[in-house]
Amino acid sequence: MIVKIKRTADPKDIANLKEHLQNKGFEIHDSVGKTYSLFGVVGDTAGFDLRSLYAFHCVDSVIRVQEPFKKVNRKFQKEDTIIEVGDVKIGGDEVIIMAGPCSVESFEQVDIIAKAVKASGAKILRGGAFKPRTSPYSYQGMGVEGLKILREIGDKYDMPIISELMSTENINDFIKYVDIIQIGARNMQNFALLKELGKIDKPVMLKRGFSNTIEEWLMSAEYIMAGGNHKVILCERGIRTFEPYTRNTLDISTVPIVKKLSHLPVVIDPSHAAGKWDYVESLSMASIAAGADGLIIEVHHEPENAMSDGAQSLKPKKFNELMKKARVLAAAVNKKV
Ligand code: PEP
Ligand code: MN
Repeated sequence: MIVKIKRTADPKDIANLKEHLQNKGFEIHDSVGKTYSLFGVVGDTAGFDLRSLYAFHCVDSVIRVQEPFKKVNRKFQKEDTIIEVGDVKIGGDEVIIMAGPCSVESFEQVDIIAKAVKASGAKILRGGAFKPRTSPYSYQGMGVEGLKILREIGDKYDMPIISELMSTENINDFIKYVDIIQIGARNMQNFALLKELGKIDKPVMLKRGFSNTIEEWLMSAEYIMAGGNHKVILCERGIRTFEPYTRNTLDISTVPIVKKLSHLPVVIDPSHAAGKWDYVESLSMASIAAGADGLIIEVHHEPENAMSDGAQSLKPKKFNELMKKARVLAAAVNKKV
């Protein structure tokens, strides 16, 4: 990091700052200018609270040079992480399509949808059994029964399953029934939950919070990896902006940015970004073109009767059309679907 010292600083305060940093194990390289002096501080600043230096009156500003994330960082692992779930590889040369209903509603509902999305080429079946709803009066999901349905149908169609975990109290059910644990946007910074996920050996798909920066998102992934679980997939699902035509604004730039900063796979959720089914295809194509490792798409055979997110759910026929276009587009960027 670089510490800029105020021109008017008291030399005693500067000496105290220098001693403070040296006591923390940092090496100081100082350069004295006409208007400002700089301390180049060398050492591992990952666990150091840079802002604490503003307590020294001589400090004008502190600039971080090193990223605060380590295990997530591409600098410490050059090659892409590939996460294997059964025969499916996420992060390689195939764009992995995950599809299914927003919520698990019944065995029959998931069966119809799973059969259709499998026939269209989806590799992973999605479905929420524990739903993070804005209103406590909205459908909250089937709970563990929903996970069991998803498991049974996943096995029937030979598709790994992904479902959202909201609380540490259900973690054992997820270890038992689910192949990929989804952490939703609202829980991206639930650090107690992230720490528990660090202790298990199961892939986790971590969605970006709708008001979180890329760095905060990567730091949440770091929580899981720091605990020892390196099977982390990142998922961009749109962020909150001033634009009301979509539910969220899909931040497509996360793909090249995260690919540069990190070795972890990046999946895009065009459904929760769009909020409306008729924008899902365009956003999916843009995501593949940008280099996403996968897509997670909501599909429902009767979206008008869906218990949640019917407005953004594709009917199986539309999903099939999307998959055909996705294949053509993926080939253009040397990938397959
Ligand atoms: C979901 O995938 O159904 C969901 C609730 O997603 P998000 O956490 O992105 O809102
Ligand atoms: Mn949903």
